[in-house]
Amino acid sequence: MKIAVLSGKGGTGKTLVSVNLAVAAVDAAYVDCDVEEPNGHLFLKPQELETTQVTVPVPEVDETLCNGCRVCVDFCKFNALAFIKNKPVLFPEVCHSCGGCVKLCPQKAMTEKAKEVGYAEKGLSGSIRFYGGTMKTGETSGVPILRELFQMTKEEEGLSIFDCPPGSACMVMESIKDADYCILVAEPTIFGSHNLSLVHELVKVFKKPFGVVLNKCTEVENPSETFCVEHGITILGKIPFDYKLGALNSEGLIVAEELPEYRGLFTRLLGRVKEEVTLCGNC
Ligand code: SF4
Ligand code: SF4
Repeated sequence: MKIAVLSGKGGTGKTLVSVNLAVAAVDAAYVDCDVEEPNGHLFLKPQELETTQVTVPVPEVDETLCNGCRVCVDFCKFNALAFIKNKPVLFPEVCHSCGGCVKLCPQKAMTEKAKEVGYAEKGLSGSIRFYGGTMKTGETSGVPILRELFQMTKEEEGLSIFDCPPGSACMVMESIKDADYCILVAEPTIFGSHNLSLVHELVKVFKKPFGVVLNKCTEVENPSETFCVEHGITILGKIPFDYKLGALNSEGLIVAEELPEYRGLFTRLLGRVKEEVTLCGNC
């Protein structure tokens, strides 16, 4: 069962929900898909880490074969190739590794070499299998690292929780595309409700079953809850605005391990999610 946890912006509580659901489940895989700014490891503190370097192919020009025809430069729609002094020059940071220039070069002057973009890793946090990764500084896309992570998690048969990057762009799409169910985490503000509407659109486009967890709830009116009611969206659970929770989080402690009331809250939330997944027939 693959559960993706997402939200329209950072800081709403995706990692809080993901890590605590994994702890409540006891036997689960936790996958930190936020390879730009990973933080799941701060809570789970995985041990026995095995690291895999992630590379992408980028073109390399053999100047002894290149006749300066410009076919490659004209083809590259990402402007990763510039024509300088009658030779193509690559800007690897913006190359999307499509391979088109290599295929089209009439002189066979282009080959591909591997460029490191970051790493993926796996380890253990008690009974939880941990997967994560990190992009190298200056890289523009973490998608190759996500693909490596999904390759690593292929053998996982039980519950896998995918802690998605913030927002609703391509890395989030990559993270939810194989999910059986999506949990949208939302804050109780107008801004939070707007961000909820963005990820709501996204899961509808991907035709994913989903429900909402309302975080940082107080007694006052909650625009995200109003959005759910108006759109007939299932509210899976509510997490209160609680200073204790913030203090434990800031120390990298897992609330479900520290406070029995939160273990109960996340155990009930996990049960609710499993019911929803069963109802939608995805597992
Ligand atoms: S297509 Fe090949 S031959 Fe033409 S400029 Fe590019 S590398 Fe040189
Ligand atoms: S591999 Fe694709 S993106 Fe990269 S330089 Fe060649 S055409 Fe451009």
